[in-house]
Amino acid sequence: MNYRHVYHAGNFADVLKHVVLSLVIGHLKAKPTPFRVIDTHAGTGIYDLGSDEAQRTGEWREGIGRLLAPAQPVPDDVAEILAPYLSAVWALNPSGVLARYPGSPLVARHLMRTGDQLIANELHPDDFEQLRQNVGRLPDSKVLSLDGWMALRSLLPPKERRGVVLIDPPFEVAGEIDRIDRGLLEAQRRFEGGCFIAWYPVKDPTPINSLHKSVTQSSRRDVLRADLYIRDPLRADMLNGCGLVVLNPPYTLNDKLNILLPFLVECLGQTVGARFNLSVSS
Ligand code: SAM
Repeated sequence: MNYRHVYHAGNFADVLKHVVLSLVIGHLKAKPTPFRVIDTHAGTGIYDLGSDEAQRTGEWREGIGRLLAPAQPVPDDVAEILAPYLSAVWALNPSGVLARYPGSPLVARHLMRTGDQLIANELHPDDFEQLRQNVGRLPDSKVLSLDGWMALRSLLPPKERRGVVLIDPPFEVAGEIDRIDRGLLEAQRRFEGGCFIAWYPVKDPTPINSLHKSVTQSSRRDVLRADLYIRDPLRADMLNGCGLVVLNPPYTLNDKLNILLPFLVECLGQTVGARFNLSVSS
């Protein structure tokens, strides 16, 4: 386990993932009944953007950094979509200067209500200790240190029978795409009404196309695909983009991403080949 998210916190991939998480949580809040968020690979929850690690890569400058100082005006409908996510970012930076970035459990907790339950799971011992300090003391929040794939099996279905599961592995071992495929379908069998968001990096798009084909064929619910390319995927040894497979997405998500993704391409794209893919299959 060499991966440490602090090197990548706030990059373009976090922006896409955390905005989508915020939109799914917003949809869950439309009903008054409590729900649960399960974050199987949660990281530490809070990232110091001034740390040596974050400064060494500077990835956040090309992600949240660009989003907060966009070269182009932000249309009103885009600003409305981004607002819940950005409120989580600013909640962690009350001085108005971006110094810390909220990881997925903090974005979720900020947007959840009293009574909505958060479970944040992280296996790396050092990151788990930070997660415990950053999230473990928050109300209605529990931290666990299980293997994320085991957590996916053992925590479902949640007793609320409503909620979202974020699956965000580090992709440092081969076969993680296949695990997403198998894990999603097994999880859906246990929690049919749940929404599942799984993140993946895009180097060569071919295995991602296969993942979506397989998940779509086996899923009993709709499957949304949202990919953001920051450059043309011409070299399969580079991180050209990233994407999300969302099983059982809120019916509002596709329309919102149709508005948001063209803006993210403009704002976060690094070459002329930057683009997005958005589709929903039933
Ligand atoms: N979800 C976080 C966010 O958006 O802020 C980022 C998570 S990062 C991409 C992946 C995390 O998974 C790392 O913190 C890593 O230590 C952890 N991890 C690695 N292997 C794991 C496993 N088998 N089970 C649970 N967590 C694991």
